Amino acid sequence: MKMDGERLWSRLSELHAFGATADGGVTRFAWSDAERQAKDRVAVWMREAGLEVREDAAGNLIGRWSGREPEAPVLLVGSHLDSVPNGGDFDGPLGVLSAIEAVDALRRAGRQPRHPVEVIAFTDEEGARFRYGMTGSRAVAGTLRREELDAHTDADGTTIAAAMTAYGLEPDRIGEAARAPGSVLAYLELHIEQGQVLEAAGQPVGVVSGIAGPLWLKFTVVGRAGHAGTTPMPGRRDALVAAAEMVQMMSEEAAAEARTVATVGQLSVRRGGVNIIPGQVEFTLDLRDVDEAVRDRVEQRIRARVAEICEARGVSCQVEELQRVPPVQCNEALQAAIVEAGRELGLSLPTVVSGAGHDGMQCAGRWPIAMLFARSRAGISHHPDEYTSPEDCALAAEILARTVARVAGA
Ligand SMILES: [Zn+2]
Repeated sequence: MKMDGERLWSRLSELHAFGATADGGVTRFAWSDAERQAKDRVAVWMREAGLEVREDAAGNLIGRWSGREPEAPVLLVGSHLDSVPNGGDFDGPLGVLSAIEAVDALRRAGRQPRHPVEVIAFTDEEGARFRYGMTGSRAVAGTLRREELDAHTDADGTTIAAAMTAYGLEPDRIGEAARAPGSVLAYLELHIEQGQVLEAAGQPVGVVSGIAGPLWLKFTVVGRAGHAGTTPMPGRRDALVAAAEMVQMMSEEAAAEARTVATVGQLSVRRGGVNIIPGQVEFTLDLRDVDEAVRDRVEQRIRARVAEICEARGVSCQVEELQRVPPVQCNEALQAAIVEAGRELGLSLPTVVSGAGHDGMQCAGRWPIAMLFARSRAGISHHPDEYTSPEDCALAAEILARTVARVAGA
């Protein structure tokens, strides 16, 4: 089986034109003209690889190879083509274009799979336009309700449903994109790591054991506002000093675990002033781990210590849950297939976890999923400087192809 790494690289570069920004990045939102053009180009490449091309009710682009048993459960392989504002060239497109190369390499090698293989480019993975995201994969998993399409709007006030209609889709038919659990064999995705673990380990490719789910909490700390000049330090109930201690504590509690990450990304002082002791502070926490039990444990410690800090500083604190997404484990047999594929090429693939969310999370409860990561330079992603070398892209694509062959029975 021979991969065409040069063609993969030139296609990655070619897609850059669709949504290219002045800063050297790419802005390619879901259901935009740029995404339409990218999908049209990718559809041409799918047809050249012998795939039967269609778009489903959500606008997911699908290229099908029926295989020897067209009625057997389908192996889905893909990623996404949409981007964040001024994002990079690899986040998403690498997985879609590698899947096409994998199919093409298998076909040229005369290895027809037993199971049908469908290359899929999920629409709206990033959620950059409507602050929702993974819309295409939610639709395929059958968990996207029609009402959701009216509930989220972009900066211009356009709903998802309106954007879909303008794109030529019928929002009322979104349910038709859903796949019955028994009809899908598995979902495989190659993605860039977007972190620095592989680079630090000197490894080009890693197998993903799980995807961390975010828990988002909002903290409202209430103290007592007062005059900054006339209130002595003893007895002050400064909400911001208490919040600062909490933020510091959250960072320490996460660091005490092997893989937990905690981020306070928004903080505001209500009715603040240069000469006013802060009376109320609100801040958010994003807490993630691939192990839900560990995440729960850290959350409990954080809640207990927030109560202690409140007690010590004479303030009160309300905690509101914004979202609680369960972490997802990748299927062990599929992970083993990826590891074996790497071994065929003389590689011993390290296991990594995904701190970022991916489309596979949406379908993990419906059918088995697995992912492999290609090394990112300096861990940079969602930025024009995002980069994975041509050699690493080709190698990761070859491991993907060998995994597809194993899983689909080629
Ligand atoms: Zn991505």
